[in-house]
Amino acid sequence: MGKESKSRRKRTQERQDRGTLTKSASAATSIRETGPDQLLAKYEVEPIPDLPGAVKKFHLRIVTDILEGHDNCAESVGALRATQTWHRHHDGFAASRPSELNFGGTPRRLACTPGCNHCCRSPVGVVAAEALLIADFVDRTFSAHERQALKGRMEARKAALQNGDPLRTYSLCPLNAGGQCLVYEFRPHNCRVFHSFDVDACEGFFVAGETQRGLPIDPVRKQYDRLIAASATVAFHALKLDMRMLEFMAALEIALEAGDDRCERFAAGADLFSGLPTIARPSSPAASTPE
Ligand code: SF4
Repeated sequence: MGKESKSRRKRTQERQDRGTLTKSASAATSIRETGPDQLLAKYEVEPIPDLPGAVKKFHLRIVTDILEGHDNCAESVGALRATQTWHRHHDGFAASRPSELNFGGTPRRLACTPGCNHCCRSPVGVVAAEALLIADFVDRTFSAHERQALKGRMEARKAALQNGDPLRTYSLCPLNAGGQCLVYEFRPHNCRVFHSFDVDACEGFFVAGETQRGLPIDPVRKQYDRLIAASATVAFHALKLDMRMLEFMAALEIALEAGDDRCERFAAGADLFSGLPTIARPSSPAASTPE
């Protein structure tokens, strides 16, 4: 979903480096002291059963990386670091896939490019830590003016939702401004799984509401997206982190209003999102796959 400009990406990185996700030496438990097997034992991890050898190795590496990411920072930001590790694995695999595939004898290039925002009109589901991660980023980096503008877009979207039909009222995500995702580095996993080899099909589905046309996607990437998400679920369960699927903007509103001690309270066990219903994982358009 919605790519961001190079300059904004650079600023984002600089801000991130200054931010609260820096490693806390005092709270750290280094992987050098706790190896992968010890981590799995420490958290009583229950891996996905019956995976073939190489897939199992891939799965366990993701799980241990997430646990390590959680252990290697201050407790208050452990959930945020675990989430970033999950997302990093997803992006790493996505980047390893070819950008050109053959669909029905026609070679197609990956259509996702900076400034393309069609999928930013679709419903998004998040887990609690993702909403906290984005709220933390908004608090640290948005100016008062940017924050006010975001609030206005969130309120406009909420009003639209109360009026129209389910597809069309999912207007552009409030975090998308001027064609750019304002939280690109921190966007939810749900926003990372869209990848299409046909921009017209995306526009048809997300903007015009056509549901018959399939979206050409990479089936290997889709399969591994699922495995990586399932691996994150195993790790999050072991860490006792909430993996309920929540509506993005409703969760973000709560996270933003929870104030800047939100992560400390979440780490201490507060259920900041208890008032929110769990939603079904938002559905993707029908997929067509290469030969
Ligand atoms: S957070 Fe919003 S703007 Fe960013 S990629 Fe997701 S849907 Fe698009």
